[in-house]
Amino acid sequence: MATPDTPCDHIAAITAVRPPRRRECEECVRIGASWVHLRTCQACGTTLCCDNSPNRHATKHAKASGHPVIASAEPGERWLYCYPDKSLAEY
Ligand SMILES: [Zn+2]
Ligand SMILES: [Zn+2]
Ligand SMILES: [Zn+2]
Repeated sequence: MATPDTPCDHIAAITAVRPPRRRECEECVRIGASWVHLRTCQACGTTLCCDNSPNRHATKHAKASGHPVIASAEPGERWLYCYPDKSLAEY
């Protein structure tokens, strides 16, 4: 079992955190939906909505693409999350 203080290899491999290109969920904008919080995929840079949002696009993207790590795209939040390892790390 991983300890919360030890980031997984996916997170450890990230040397520069990708910022959101725009502060909006790319999928929600396309379908005219709304979102609560935003997350940026660290593999491809896509910004999508969080699990509190009706469409949970960030989680769907991670499952569909296999991209493991997202960063919060919210101002003032500095953390990364890895889906396969359920690992959270602040930076
Ligand atoms: Zn990981
Ligand atoms: Zn969305
Ligand atoms: Zn991605």
